[in-house]
Amino acid sequence: MSLFPPKTQSAIDFAAELFRQAKHAVALTGAGLSTPSGIPDFRSTGTGLWSRDEPMEVASLSTFRTAPERFFEWFRPLAGQIFYAKPNPAHLSLAQLENAGHVRSIITQNIDTLHQRAGSQTVIEMHGTMQTLTCTQCYHRAEAKFYLDEFIANGRIPCCPRCGNTLKPDVILFGEQLPQAAWSRAQREARSCDLMLVIGSSLEVLPVAGLPMQALDRGAHLIIVNNVQTYLDVRADVVFTEDAAVIIPAIAEKVLNG
Ligand SMILES: [Zn+2]
Repeated sequence: MSLFPPKTQSAIDFAAELFRQAKHAVALTGAGLSTPSGIPDFRSTGTGLWSRDEPMEVASLSTFRTAPERFFEWFRPLAGQIFYAKPNPAHLSLAQLENAGHVRSIITQNIDTLHQRAGSQTVIEMHGTMQTLTCTQCYHRAEAKFYLDEFIANGRIPCCPRCGNTLKPDVILFGEQLPQAAWSRAQREARSCDLMLVIGSSLEVLPVAGLPMQALDRGAHLIIVNNVQTYLDVRADVVFTEDAAVIIPAIAEKVLNG
């Protein structure tokens, strides 16, 4: 027996059918996918991290350059939440869908590496990653895992093992350009997919929010799973205003096991 109300169950069935028919399905994921993993939506207002400080200011490239200790102080609780978070059932289901050939790639606005930790292979990170740090002076790149434990525990700012300058997390700060290679790949995926699944993104931050429109303009189907409405709900084939960690596994189960 289904755990869902009949209307939700038929929407799940329909979404699964779209996946079975799709030849090139792409997922676009945002902060709402990782909130069930305990990571706050740090770009939204009223989620603690944002209200203590003005994030547009403290999480900006200019603050990082002029007062890195302020940036790191703001970043520390968030880094802890991200570093120790675990993939939730939605991440795991997406990885299963990809490994079974039903998802070609994942475009993500998240920096938490939970897709990769869940087993996804093709992840396009639009806002950078917590996986690595890069020296602001000599551009040496270092694995974050060797530095973050101590930073989170003691607040020790990560320093370059080569030249001693500050290591910057490879996340895109306010005032920084989106990574060009990732953006080109994301656009290519949006333009060549025949199904896009948007999860946990309110589609408010441009230019990433424009990717589903590029897919729609080329005739792709659109499924949206988000806890608030988006500007493209009216053009989507199916919209779920529910928890991604519940809905995505249900869709994946139906796609994989009928
Ligand atoms: Zn260096």
